[in-house]
Amino acid sequence: MKQYKAVIFDRDATLNTTTQILRAGQAAGDATDGYVLAPDELSLFPAVKPAMAALRAQGILPFVFTQQNCIGKGLVTPAGVEAIHAHMNMLLGADAAIEKFYLAWNTPGQGDDARAKPSPAMIFEIMADYGLKPEEVLVAGDSKRDYKSARAADVDFVWIRDDLRRVSEADMQATGCAIYDDVLAMTQAVFSPAAPKALPDQKPSR
Ligand SMILES: [Mg+2]
Repeated sequence: MKQYKAVIFDRDATLNTTTQILRAGQAAGDATDGYVLAPDELSLFPAVKPAMAALRAQGILPFVFTQQNCIGKGLVTPAGVEAIHAHMNMLLGADAAIEKFYLAWNTPGQGDDARAKPSPAMIFEIMADYGLKPEEVLVAGDSKRDYKSARAADVDFVWIRDDLRRVSEADMQATGCAIYDDVLAMTQAVFSPAAPKALPDQKPSR
């Protein structure tokens, strides 16, 4: 039986909205459309704070692994993204804070960064930094690259339905991984005291 000690969350569309972040004078499809570029543009889903608090109350560490290609496009600096993450933790409060944020990005014209999703690099970094074994880690995300990162790291994965339904139900179901409407529903299902603290063994379908 697996005993998860950490949950690694994708950020955009898993924890925060990626829609309706258009700025004054911008139209949908603009190069910055969908990116969170400043702390006041961050809009957490209501499920996030109670989910993180429930995890922390059980001694389970929440992490974020996020890919912000907006950095590579020059729309925001790494320090700017760190400020957004500091703001997220301020909103969550100490009892529901993200333990640590791991960040990667691709830069146009330079090829994919070796740490960028679907690489398992950030997951491996978290496991190394905190002494976690693969069976102690659960990854939660909304995109296929999140799923592929988890599979490449040989850790369990659960789907969180994103706000734009970018991945079809059929595609999610084909992975054999559980699917939840939000991170609180996932937390209650996987980590409720009455539930086993592990999902059924997953068969990778690579
Ligand atoms: Mg996402």
